[in-house]
Parts: sequence; C-alpha cells; structure tokens
Amino acid sequence: METRNITSEEVPTELEEKYLGGAGVAAAIFTREVPANVDPYDSKNLLIFSVGPFCGTSVPFCGRHFVMAKSPLTKIIGEASAGGFFGNELKCTGYDHIIVKGKSKKPVYLWIKDGTAEIRDASDLWGKGIHYTETELKNIIGDDKIKTSSIGPAGEDLVKYAAIINESDHAAGRCGLGAVMGSKKLKSIVVRGTGKPSVHNKDALKVAVKKIREIVKESPLANVMRESGTLIHMDNFISIGDIPIKNYTMSRWPGTKKIGFYALQTRGEIKHHSCFNCPIACRANIEYEGKWVAWPEYEMLAMMGSNLFVDDLNALIKWNLLVNDLGIDIISLGGNIACFLEAAERKLLNMDLSELGFKQDPEKSDNYQIWGAIEPIEKLIKMITYREGIGNDLAEGVKNFCLIRNLPQDLSTVGKGLEIPAHEPRSSNLTALDYATTCRGAYHCYEPMQLSSGMTLKKELGLTELVDRFSKEEAVDAVIKIQDSSEAYSACGGCIFGFWYTQEITPWINALNAITGRSYSVDTWMKAGEQIFNIKRSYNMDCGITKAADTFGSRFFTPIPKGGTKKNIPPLDELLPKYYELRGWDQEGRPPS
Ligand code: SF4
Repeated sequence: METRNITSEEVPTELEEKYLGGAGVAAAIFTREVPANVDPYDSKNLLIFSVGPFCGTSVPFCGRHFVMAKSPLTKIIGEASAGGFFGNELKCTGYDHIIVKGKSKKPVYLWIKDGTAEIRDASDLWGKGIHYTETELKNIIGDDKIKTSSIGPAGEDLVKYAAIINESDHAAGRCGLGAVMGSKKLKSIVVRGTGKPSVHNKDALKVAVKKIREIVKESPLANVMRESGTLIHMDNFISIGDIPIKNYTMSRWPGTKKIGFYALQTRGEIKHHSCFNCPIACRANIEYEGKWVAWPEYEMLAMMGSNLFVDDLNALIKWNLLVNDLGIDIISLGGNIACFLEAAERKLLNMDLSELGFKQDPEKSDNYQIWGAIEPIEKLIKMITYREGIGNDLAEGVKNFCLIRNLPQDLSTVGKGLEIPAHEPRSSNLTALDYATTCRGAYHCYEPMQLSSGMTLKKELGLTELVDRFSKEEAVDAVIKIQDSSEAYSACGGCIFGFWYTQEITPWINALNAITGRSYSVDTWMKAGEQIFNIKRSYNMDCGITKAADTFGSRFFTPIPKGGTKKNIPPLDELLPKYYELRGWDQEGRPPS
C-alpha cells in the first residue's frame, strides 16, 4: 500500500491441492507470511480476501467470500465471511485472492476490473457510512454493476470489532477485520468482472449440481429456512435455552415472542431474496418507514434484542440499518453493550448514567432503568463507533473493557477474546466444545449443536443419528468431524447453510473434482480440512495461545437455574483431553508439525 505497487501471481498448484483453495489457501499464505509477533495494525499484517473453487460456478450456495488477517480483538488469526454478490464478481475478475500488504498514508480504494487493478484516492469517502460509500462509488466509476466491500466509520476509527460490509447488509463481521482495513486506510475494494471461472468437466459438474439441488429441495429443514430465514431460531430454540438473555444470565423471557419470525410476519409483506446462485433465499426485505430494508437476522435479534432485554422490533430493524451503515460486528457490539448494561446495573462504572439518557426508576430513585433502554443503547452504538466518552473503552471489546474499567472477570463473556455469539454454550456440549476450540475464538457458524436437531448430519462421516446435546464422548468425535468438514467446505467457497442441509458430502466433493480436475475422496477432502484447521491452531500457539485459552467466560460455568439449559455446565475439563487425543495433538493442545 505504501508504494501503491500491484502485482499478480499464480497460486502454486501444490498449495491449492493441499488446502483446496479459497480460505484454505489464504490460511496457508497467511500463516507463512505474517510473523506471529506482528501487531495487527503493523504494516506486515496481511488482509486477504478470497473466493473458493465453487465461487462463480453453477454450484449452489457459492457466492461467499472470505476475509483473513491477524485480529486486533483477539491478537490471533482472524476470519470472517460474507454472502451476497461480491464474491462472484471478484471471481469473474479472474482473481481468487486479493492480498493487501502495508499501509497507505491517505484513504484509498482498490478498483479491480477484470485483469486490471489500480489504487485510487478515497479522501472524499473517508468518514462516510456504507450506504453513501456504495452509492458514490457507483457514481464515480459510472457502473451500477460494480460490487464493493467497504468499511464504515467504525473501521476508520479502529473499533476492534469493526466489520467489512458488502451490498449494504452483508457483513464479514467477526474478529475486527474492518479495523485492519481501516489501519491500512483502505476504504473499499471495488470489483467488476465479466469473465467466467473455468470448469474442468462441465458434464460431471452438471451431475453433481443436480444431485445437490435435489437433496436441498427435499430437505424439510431447508424449506423452513426458505420461509423464515435465521429468525425462526428465536421462536424455536428458546425451549432448549440456546438464546442469550440479559447478558447470558437467563434462559427464559417472554420478550422473545415479540422479536422472532412470527412477530415479524405480522408487520406486513416479506420479500425474499438470495445471495448469488442460492436455491434457499433465506434473506428478505421488509418495509420500514416507507422503504424496503433488510430484515434483521437472528444474531441481531438475539445480541441486540434478547441479550439487552429489548423487545421493540422496530428499534431492532432501525439498529440493523444503522449498525451495517456504521460497519460494526453485531455480535461483538451486542456483547459489549450487554457488558456495559450489567456493569451499570451493578453500579461498577462510577459515571452519571443520566448523561447517556438513562431514566431513573420511579420505584427506586437511586436506580436507573437500564435493560431495554432504547435511546441510551442507540447513543452507545454511536459513541462506540466514534470512540466518544465511554464508547472509547467499549470500542476495545469486552475483555479489554473489563480490564480498563477494572471490572470483575465474570463480566467477560468472550472466548479467546472474541465475544460469544448468540448461542448459549450451556445449552449444548457441542456448542461449548466448538467455542472452546475453533481457531478464531468463540465462533458459531459450523454449529455442531445442530446435530441435535437433525441438521449438519453427514452419512459418510458416520453422523447419521441425532447427537444428544449433553453427551460427552459422542460430542467430541462429532465436533471434530463437523469442524474439519466445515473447514474443507468453506475452503471450497460455499455458504455453510448449504452444507447443513445436505446429509451427504460426496456430491460436494464431486463438484470440486469436476471444477478442478482433481480427485479428492471423502478421506483426502477431510484431511485437507484437518490440515487447514491445524495450521491455524499452530499459528495461534505461536502467537502465545496455550491450552488454558481453550475455554470462555467464567459465567458460563455457573448453571442457569431455570429453563432449557437444564442447569448444564459445559464439562470442558472432560471434553478437551479427549478432543486433543482424537485430533492427534499433544497434551498441551499443539498439533504435530
Ligand atoms: S442460504 Fe441464505 S445466506 Fe446462504 S447463500 Fe443462500 S441466501 Fe445467502
């Protein structure tokens, strides 16, 4: 970025064969090129955008792109991905990876049109929100068909959980990669591609794609997703205690009924739409103040709704727009605001809450109405984005906020520094073990807990029966299989929802083989997934992670007295040694070199 020098090179075939492509190849490049002791804002940190071999082809669910950098939030490998159409457009430029090195002194954007690329001035866009940036870039370039991945003010202000947003509301949200982009003064990556990815055997691909589409069509669970998207989780999973409520202190709350899919359905018409080449179309627009806007996904409803005791659906729809425009990861944001609210309730912050707009409780004059306070929460969102007042401390993430404000560690609801997502780890040992061991810190998208509901079953891996959510031995084996297969699938470039609904892996591998001309079997494909997982784990250990970090906030080891978690405490001390053993790691949790 300093020199504005742009080069392109072929990805070595051995690397693609070993790590499948996309996010797998990115992990290999990243762990080789970025020294473990590098500060995330150092110019030596790489920011890598990748698309996998599925992307841009007829394989369904293939529009996803993946982003990787050392995370300023966790100080280990950071990963995020997003759907939409940016990935397909990037693929059609002829590039599979964009590797951003160094730091620019002035705001810039990267413009890639087919095989050409240039770095352009973005001074006039700096400080602007995502919606303005996307519209203005279309005007500047004079092409409505461009696709952009941009940061908002949160990324510019180095909020440690800033997101990278494409097409208004698709977020590569986790791990603060928007802040890394901001540290490089890179406002946006703009792509326009008119090419087509090459396919080795078109007939074989047709057969594989037909099979995948048939399986998805017959999946009752996929049909639920088609109608009600991720939002239905709020309605359906309260019974098992999976929903975070009041900073993960409760398991039941009538307010969930006001913010789930069924509540949203009563508001009016829902217009479904999809990412590139997706047979499900789980996304949708709804009307809000005379405009059609994206509906809030489950993680938004849970992290900014139930977790903050907010049962006002219109506020959540408004915040969804606001947060995407500012460019913040909704999961971490909800975790940070929940931490603030609890600290305020426990009178740990030594500040005048009325300055933030909190109102005094009419029944107890020395107390404030804290939970569910709409206006103060909205004010906090903006204060965090612009690092104003206490927002400056909250912009550092929950773990650091607790340290800066000398708060009790039970408030630190993180795993390896990453705020816990909207799935309660006490509700499933599968979730708990996955959170404790995934490479980017507490991360939810592989969702082995869905094995207890019938999704993510995989017959070739022997995962054909529902797994008891409180099982132990069974949980360890299942989590490893789900992690490795999901790593392999993600390296190929698919949306993970597609993988959940197909109880077979073989059609996906057939598609990969047809595209690349390689000949993976289930075993070699799974081996590649394991290798990707292990190189990231080894890198994290070089960054200073030890087995002591394979856990999460202490509050998750206190049972919730009532509700669907059934007072479960995640038995990590029993699960982890078995997990290391089955993975072939040593007792310290390090993979073989
Ligand atoms: S399932 Fe949903 S998120 Fe995934 S590709 Fe389809 S529309 Fe996008």
